[in-house]
Amino acid sequence: MLSLLVFFFVLVITLPLDAAENRDFVDISELDGSLILDIRYATSRNFTGKVMYPVVRCLLRRDAALRVIRVEQKLRTQGYRLIIFDGYRPLSVQKKFWNILPDERYVADPGKGSRHNRGAAVDVSLGDLAGHALAMPSDYDDFSEKAHRDYSGASGEAQRNCALLEAAMREEGFDPFPTEWWHFDAPGWERYPVSDFSLEEFKGENCDVTQKRKD
Ligand SMILES: [Zn+2]
Repeated sequence: MLSLLVFFFVLVITLPLDAAENRDFVDISELDGSLILDIRYATSRNFTGKVMYPVVRCLLRRDAALRVIRVEQKLRTQGYRLIIFDGYRPLSVQKKFWNILPDERYVADPGKGSRHNRGAAVDVSLGDLAGHALAMPSDYDDFSEKAHRDYSGASGEAQRNCALLEAAMREEGFDPFPTEWWHFDAPGWERYPVSDFSLEEFKGENCDVTQKRKD
């Protein structure tokens, strides 16, 4: 009985810190503390109407994070800022989304996994240099044709902003998602596995219990 208890105790303390699972992830704010985060799933301002993340954090695969930072740097020289809505999303949260809205047009099937679950997709918008959100064709998580990239009913200003954001993201290799103006896949997303560690337990770059950082 005691050995069984010890076994479960070890299982509980080792599972969330699985070394391989969150290797190569970074907290993008540790790389650039000036980035604007508006993590909607850490608020109720999202399609679920509920707080789904316990912390305001954007984790991404290192390569994707560096690309986002380069986009931000270029946009600043043009008088704009990136506003980040979402990055890595734990698979367990994806399952909750699916339970609320089991429709693959709007939510990725957790059986297949979202590119967000791989830390290789980012949801972003555009702000001015002061960080104020600029006009876009729809609000975030608007699952209507207003969010489609080919929607022509938005104001000229919103269409220009949307095109500017898309061009800046494409320049860094991101692939725009046709039905969500805010969603971009990082190049090589398919080589990353789906992950399910929680946002709050991530301890920093290359969080890996088998390799203590030397610096
Ligand atoms: Zn997305």
